[in-house]
Amino acid sequence: MDYKKFTASKNNKNLKRFLSVPADKRIIFVPQCLRNVKKCKAEEFGSFYICAGCGACKIAAIQKAATDKGYIAVRILKGGSTVKKAVRDLRPKAILGVACYFEGAQGIKECEKRNIPVYFYPLSRDGCENTDLKLPALLKIIKGETG
Ligand code: SF4
Repeated sequence: MDYKKFTASKNNKNLKRFLSVPADKRIIFVPQCLRNVKKCKAEEFGSFYICAGCGACKIAAIQKAATDKGYIAVRILKGGSTVKKAVRDLRPKAILGVACYFEGAQGIKECEKRNIPVYFYPLSRDGCENTDLKLPALLKIIKGETG
């Protein structure tokens, strides 16, 4: 499967529905590989972390934008397999998911089973650690400023 094409076509289909859900019913998932592991002060809760806002990686800005908009939560997931549990626990009506293309495609399929609109935002550099993303465009989506 071409994960890049798959996720792009799902995003085209889901963006409107994702944005129509009020921010306080949305959650954001980000992968743990985005953390600055040497400096990270995030609190660990079994299958996920919550950012402590130390500013050593881009998750702090994501968390701040989400909190300002009233999102339910930003969860730093330990792996794609933890999406199911987080959705069960938090019962969001829409999801913004940051991941590599492969994990993104799996997450989209998981959300489709539950009929939850998901918008996937790809990492610009993937891998097991020190990953990266383009922050300004993501912050726009979090704020609902998609042009
Ligand atoms: S900003 Fe948050 S997730 Fe990033 S390194 Fe600091 S505490 Fe960890």
